[in-house]
Amino acid sequence: ALIVHPDIDSLVPYVPGKPIEELQRELGLSRIVKLASNENPLGPSPKAVAAIGPVTGSLHRYPDGGAFRLRTALAERWKVTPDQVLLGNGSDEILGLLARTFLSPADEAVMASETFVIYKMEVTAAHGKSVTVPMKNGRHDLSAMADAITPRTRLLFICNPNNPTGTMVTETEVRALMQRVPEQVVVVFDEAYYEYADAADYADSLAYVKQGRHAIVLRTFSKIYGLAGLRIGYGLTTPEIASYLNRLRPPFNANSVAQEAAIAALGDETHVTRSRSLNREQMAVVRQGLEALGLTPLPSQANFLYFDAGRDGRELFQALLREGVIVRHIEGSMVRVTIGLPEENQMFLAALRNVLEREP
Ligand code: PMP
Repeated sequence: ALIVHPDIDSLVPYVPGKPIEELQRELGLSRIVKLASNENPLGPSPKAVAAIGPVTGSLHRYPDGGAFRLRTALAERWKVTPDQVLLGNGSDEILGLLARTFLSPADEAVMASETFVIYKMEVTAAHGKSVTVPMKNGRHDLSAMADAITPRTRLLFICNPNNPTGTMVTETEVRALMQRVPEQVVVVFDEAYYEYADAADYADSLAYVKQGRHAIVLRTFSKIYGLAGLRIGYGLTTPEIASYLNRLRPPFNANSVAQEAAIAALGDETHVTRSRSLNREQMAVVRQGLEALGLTPLPSQANFLYFDAGRDGRELFQALLREGVIVRHIEGSMVRVTIGLPEENQMFLAALRNVLEREP
C-alpha cells in the first residue's frame, strides 16, 4: 500500500476556480467578472509587458539563478544589501521555505485564526504545529499572539494587511510584540498588500529586519504590480536567514520572464500610483454599496473587502456566480470581494442586490 505521513494525508488541496471560459460555457453566460483573487483589475504594468518580448530569444537558457539584477534593484529600493533579498516563485514559495527551514517535527508556528490559509498548510507539510490565536474585532491580537509563544515556537506569522480580513496591525502594536519575541522565533511579516496600505500608523516591519532582528518581510509582484501569472515574490531579511533559506531554494525558482518583468514593473511608478488610486476610489464605492444593502465590511487597507453576508456564504457564492460574478467564500457567512474596475464593481453590487432581494 501507499505510505503517506498522516500530516500530508491531513492536507486539503487548495482548490483553484475553474477557468473563466469553462464556467461561461457551463453557465451559458457571455461574461463573468472575477473578483476572487485580489488581482490588479488594471492588468500588468505595461512596462513589464514590454520587457517580456526581448527575453523570448533566450528562453532556451536557464534563468539567472542568483537573479542578480532584480535582487540589486530590490536592494536599492529598500535600502538593504543584495544578500538580504531572496526571490520566490510567488511569495507562497518563500512561506514553504520558511516552514521547512525552521520547523522540526512538533515545533510551533503562531498565527491568527483567520489569516492566509497557506501558513497552516506549509507548517503541517513541514510536520510542525500551527497555534492559532483568535482575532479581536477582525484584527490580529498581537498581545495574545505573544502570549502564545512557547519554547517550541519557531515562526510567528503576521499578515499585514491581513488576508482575508483586510485589517492591519499598527506600529505601536508591532513594537510591543517585538519587545516580547524571543530570539528563537522568526517573525514573518507577510505584506502581499503592502503597496495598498496608506494608514499613517501602518507598521514599519522592515525597520526590524534592518535592526538585525530575526524577521522577514514578504512582498509580491502578484498584487499591485499585476504579475500574478508570472509567479514572483520576494523576501527581505537578515543575510543569515537569507543564507539558510537559500540552501533549500530551488536554484532556478524565479524564471527569466518573471525576472525581467519584475525589474520593469518595479520601475513603473505610474502603474502603481494609478492602481492605488483606483483601488482607493473604488473601495469607497463598493463599501457604500454594501452598506446600502445593510452589510458592514471590515475596515480594509488592502484591495478587497470582507463582510458577513448574514446567510450561507457558499450559497451566496453560487448565486452570485449564476449572475456572472465570482467572489471568494471564506467560511460560514463570511465573503471576500476584490475591488475591480468601476463597471465590474457595479456588476457585483447589482448581482448582490438581485440575490438578496430574491431571497431576503
Ligand atoms: N500572502 C498573502 C497574504 C496573499 O494573499 C497571497 C496571495 N493570495 C500570497 C501571500 C501569495 O502571493 P504570491 O505567491 O502570488 O506572491
